Amino acid sequence: MSGELLDAVVVGAGPTGLACGIELTKRGLRAKLFDKGCLTNSLCNYPTNMVFFTTPELLEIGGIPMTCLGEKPVRVEALKYYRRVAQHYRLDVHQYEPVLGFEGSPGSFRVRTRDRMGRENEYACRFVILATGYYDRPNLLGVPGEDLPKVTHYYREPYPYFDQDVLVVGGKNSAAIAALELYRAGARVTLVHRRERLSDSIKYWIRPDIENRIRNGEIRAYFQTTVREILPDSVVLSTPEGEILLKNDFVFALTGYHPDTEFLARHGIVFDPGTQRPRVDPETLESERPGVYLAGVVVAGMHTNEIFIENGRFHGERIAEAILRASNSI
Ligand SMILES: Cc1cc2nc3c(=O)[nH]c(=O)nc-3n(C[C@H](O)[C@H](O)[C@H](O)COP(=O)(O)OP(=O)(O)OC[C@H]3O[C@@H](n4cnc5c(N)ncnc54)[C@H](O)[C@@H]3O)c2cc1C
Repeated sequence: MSGELLDAVVVGAGPTGLACGIELTKRGLRAKLFDKGCLTNSLCNYPTNMVFFTTPELLEIGGIPMTCLGEKPVRVEALKYYRRVAQHYRLDVHQYEPVLGFEGSPGSFRVRTRDRMGRENEYACRFVILATGYYDRPNLLGVPGEDLPKVTHYYREPYPYFDQDVLVVGGKNSAAIAALELYRAGARVTLVHRRERLSDSIKYWIRPDIENRIRNGEIRAYFQTTVREILPDSVVLSTPEGEILLKNDFVFALTGYHPDTEFLARHGIVFDPGTQRPRVDPETLESERPGVYLAGVVVAGMHTNEIFIENGRFHGERIAEAILRASNSI
């Protein structure tokens, strides 16, 4: 076990985990952050050409101004910004070192990790902050063939799909943007959505584009339709008019993501059975397991459309304040 007793271990070095690290540091508390991937791992895996929906000042953490070339930041600008902020505050981030689990109680937790060499390490800390996000866990369609190599739950860029028959599943921003980019890169795109129409949450600058492409027949769309089965060279759709078979080369199932509730539950996080939200103190974000705090999108449980970087970034301050107070009383 590493010798020093840390004030806190932060699990996850996304925007929220970094905000937690910064706010702890500002208060003179010692923290280590761990990420199973790289710094801001989720953002790194977002679509290559993504443009944030949010203006830059709403993505800022640690009081460091963010600027961007256009009206809204692109992925690369956000990646550079968060990296510079982490460097500025000299955050102690262990990348590529997943947290396997932790035991203990306030004042004496032991956090277990595995580093890149496959070594299992243990760190002692007084408090634990879980800022593990949701992007690792796609919402699966749960249909036969979903495990075929041509199926992905992550869209990166359109260029490999020129002259291919591509199915995009979903009716929100990610599905609409992917369908548009794929169409413009020369793929034959079919969009399938289980509801009657595209989601109301589609951004106002994306909606007319996708609706016009569908109206013009440039993107084929099936509403109130689900995927029944994925076969190596086709897909079976269940439409209001019955089942149809479509020629298919690739499937993008962009039906959202959810937090690793098993990991959370295994570590004593209690979920509200009605809403599926983790139970936390609304002020401090301490969970029902004393000394363990939740930060960022995990606070919303399955309601991942409620917490973004925009509002999750403020969790760091609340948790750091609570930990500072609690440190003085144990
Ligand atoms: C395409 C897309 C566009 C978006 N656009 C916007 C936008 O414009 N504005 C906005 O505010 N929000 C936007 N969001 C949402 C926003 O990106 C997320 O809400 C935000 O990343 C959540 O931050 P987080 O720190 O809670 O989680 P994450 O950024 O997901 O960070 C969690 C981290 O925890 C790590 N982790 C998980 N488990 C472990 C473990 N056991 N051990 C170690 N590390 C672990 C992960 O690798 C990850 O790096 C967008 C999301 C997507 C998918």
